[in-house]
Amino acid sequence: MATMTCKLLVIGAGPGGYVAAIRAGQLGIDTIIVEGSRAGGTCLIRGCIPSKALIHAADQYAQISAHAGKSHLGIKITEKPALDFAETIAWKEGIVDRLNGGVEALLKKAKVKQIYGWAKFKNGKSCDVETKDGLVTITAEYVILATGSQPVELPFLPFGGDVISSTEALELTKLPKRLVVVGAGYIGLELGIAYRKLGAEVTFIEADTRILSAYDKELTAPLQQSLGKLGITVHLGAKASGWQDNKLSFTDNKGAAQRIAADKLLVTVGRKPNLSGWGLDKMAVDIEQGFIKIDQYCRSSMKNVYAIGDITGEPMLAHRASAQGEIVAEIIAGKKREFNPVAIAAVCFTDPEIIAAGKSAAEAKAEGIEIIVGKFPLMANGRALTMGGGDGFIRITARADNHVILGIHAVGPHVSELSGEFALALEMGARLEDIAGTIHVHPTVTESFAEASLAALGHAIHI
Ligand code: FAD
Repeated sequence: MATMTCKLLVIGAGPGGYVAAIRAGQLGIDTIIVEGSRAGGTCLIRGCIPSKALIHAADQYAQISAHAGKSHLGIKITEKPALDFAETIAWKEGIVDRLNGGVEALLKKAKVKQIYGWAKFKNGKSCDVETKDGLVTITAEYVILATGSQPVELPFLPFGGDVISSTEALELTKLPKRLVVVGAGYIGLELGIAYRKLGAEVTFIEADTRILSAYDKELTAPLQQSLGKLGITVHLGAKASGWQDNKLSFTDNKGAAQRIAADKLLVTVGRKPNLSGWGLDKMAVDIEQGFIKIDQYCRSSMKNVYAIGDITGEPMLAHRASAQGEIVAEIIAGKKREFNPVAIAAVCFTDPEIIAAGKSAAEAKAEGIEIIVGKFPLMANGRALTMGGGDGFIRITARADNHVILGIHAVGPHVSELSGEFALALEMGARLEDIAGTIHVHPTVTESFAEASLAALGHAIHI
């Protein structure tokens, strides 16, 4: 049995843990990171990156197929394209492998020791790890917990066989002919739309009366319409109840019992933090509403034990985890930092894409803030039209008194790339006049951001 000591021990090499470890290494902190699976975590191995690769391939295939049909661009493709799905998945794996190698190399460059195996805590500052070379006991002065999350399983639809989670949905080597998705949140919608574009028949079963119920109705309406155009069936207000002989039983919104056949049943009903199986019970760490309780410095209730990323609550997003990781490493190095963002933008990489950054009008009103709202339709944006899409809008919510922007929401093709500008505006406390007064490049979709600000001020130019 080997023993190791270090100043900082990071558990989990997802976007939270690996960023924390790299920053700590850069700051000269003697750091060990322990990862049970592969460096990169959920995001890089079975989440953000592989899903976006699949979405890209699906978009390409759908576009080329459209040109082989009746192309309005004058492009003539005489034969319908063929899809080698196993090759698509292999290409996606190539990207994942490359990024996984990149993370390992960055950790090495920052002089972080990487230990591969599942950590099990014996007490607050020391854990055992079963590695391929035997048992290692690691003791540290500081600990960062970054064990991430996993898909929620429904007791009546346990994962296994043809009942799959997002993890398996990103690893299929054969395209399912019929895919049924339980849960129309962002993960289910992203994957369901991609599979539809690749040629599968896709049906959603959603218990809520709307898709993406965390977002406001105006924002999700273009996506709801798009699902219809893509030929995706959506059962809202429907409750799945069981799976037998490759048929899903559900009750529709009128209370009628139905059964639907599928080759694969994808269950995407949320994610839960990884809090068990690694000795959390051996630590004096408080839990609050199902997550590790942290303060604005990401400190847990136990001295020198920090927690970051999905195990600490919503929004369970990679960029939140990474931001927390960087801050905690700097705090441990003695810098004065705290995690207190104005907004954490969330993007749904659906078709069309959706961005929510900051407060919606309803949220601001609920807080008693008097607001003004400006909205600019992408139909009036030249660049959006030249890219073949005009559906969607950018909407800004600002304080009525001083015009400080409170929230920015957008829906439309390719809008995800605007999320950085939105987050920057909110973080810097921009007013409508700041955005309207920034010269945005023509022709770009970003011009619509300035136009939405002008609309809120009452004098948009292009509408
Ligand atoms: P994780 O990435 O989950 O990493 C935790 C790591 O800890 C894992 O590698 C795990 O193996 C390891 N671990 C756990 N326990 C132990 C232990 N005891 N010992 C050793 N290692 C351990 N987010 C976005 O921001 N944008 C997106 O587009 C996006 N798309 C997504 C698509 C899908 C299909 C999914 C599933 C998720 C997506 N997410 C997206 C969410 C994102 O992946 C997570 O928010 C993010 O990965 C959280 O980072 P983390 O570091 O907290 O945890």
